[in-house]
Amino acid sequence: MAIEIEPGVLRLTEDIVSETERSFFYLLQGSDADCLIDGGWGFCTDLGAIRRDAEKPLVAIATHSHFDHIGLLHLAKRCYAHHAEAAIFADPDPVSTQALPYLADRPVLAGNGIIEPISIRQQPCPVDIFLDDGDIVDLGGRRLVAIHTPGHSPGSLSLLDSDSGLLFCADTVHDGHIWDDIPGADGQALLMSHERLAEVDFARACPGHGAILPRAAFLDRIERYRRRVGA
Ligand SMILES: [Zn+2]
Ligand SMILES: [Zn+2]
Repeated sequence: MAIEIEPGVLRLTEDIVSETERSFFYLLQGSDADCLIDGGWGFCTDLGAIRRDAEKPLVAIATHSHFDHIGLLHLAKRCYAHHAEAAIFADPDPVSTQALPYLADRPVLAGNGIIEPISIRQQPCPVDIFLDDGDIVDLGGRRLVAIHTPGHSPGSLSLLDSDSGLLFCADTVHDGHIWDDIPGADGQALLMSHERLAEVDFARACPGHGAILPRAAFLDRIERYRRRVGA
């Protein structure tokens, strides 16, 4: 499923995954290149039908290396990510991507289907260009600023598209449970990343799970997390 949320910005998800488990990823059109921000679980393998110009180079920015966000990254000719998770992008085995133990016997498919975790072992997507805080990816007519927001994972990145007022914040802020209790997560770092993002000028946040969050809802989500952890 693809929905255009702003001119040249598509929000994508995979209908085969149950609604509660779905991840969202984004295809941004620039004049020089199209850019995936994340790549879902990897069930959808053909972007041809939704790209307006399939001849244009496709690059990808990975917000982090979890199994539910990296499935299509290998389609890009160039992959950008933070160096902290580089080894996982190069060799995305089910434990490093956290497909295991999460998926074991968990009904994650639409209709309560269970998948064999090994079956979603993603293709390697080695990082070509490391992004760190403040780095810019220029797609031609659209610039994305990287913000290092560790906490959910050590190399988590958020991306700001100032012209459209969109902040892509992946699993750092979203509706539902924000995972801070998994290998590599750091609750204190997450709180600091939330504080940092609260200072960023944007209109709507596009998370990796759940609804798009207008700024006020985003700030409320951060406040709820603070209360949950007693900060
Ligand atoms: Zn994640
Ligand atoms: Zn996720």
